Amino acid sequence: MSGREPHGHGGGADLALRVEALEALLAEKGFLDPVQVDAIVRRYAEEVGPLNGAKVVARAWLDPDYRRRLLADGTTAIAELGFGGPQGEYMVVVENTPSVHNVVVCTLCSCYPWPVLGLPPAWYKSPAYRSRIVREPRAVLREMGLELPPEVEVRVWDSSSEVRYLVLPERPPGTDGLSEEALSELVSRDAMIGVAKPPAPGEAARG
Ligand code: FE
Repeated sequence: MSGREPHGHGGGADLALRVEALEALLAEKGFLDPVQVDAIVRRYAEEVGPLNGAKVVARAWLDPDYRRRLLADGTTAIAELGFGGPQGEYMVVVENTPSVHNVVVCTLCSCYPWPVLGLPPAWYKSPAYRSRIVREPRAVLREMGLELPPEVEVRVWDSSSEVRYLVLPERPPGTDGLSEEALSELVSRDAMIGVAKPPAPGEAARG
């Protein structure tokens, strides 16, 4: 950690500038195609990442022992499925229940569990989400399409460079007998951040 930032990311703006400079240099030398770089980033953000988290969730829905290990030590249980690395060194998994709904934010910047969710969506990094989800989580969730009954407790988890959170959503009704793969297809990125719920089979997925 550089100590320059209160949040302890060790780099931040400096790092972004360096990466940009490096990319420009490599492109100029013909070692690297910026279009391909963008494609890789997009793929990581939209496909690979959330897919990993969805596999973790589906396994937890099917295997009670795995679920227990996952809630007790997220990092180790996630590594069992082969996922880990930068931005996922210390994972905490929080479980939604009929009475508790969890939602994740990074109030200071955009800390996010890359190995299971990929790169954060733009709204996750927006100042509006970061400030409002803490003050008025129900209103923000409602605007994002998730209406929670008043009796459900909302817990907001503030990520940091040390701890990254993953929401374990509730398994939707009507999913008995579905394979692990079919279950994982119901689990969206947004459901694992806690701003959506996995749809029951046949319902339109969102996020
Ligand atoms: Fe952060």
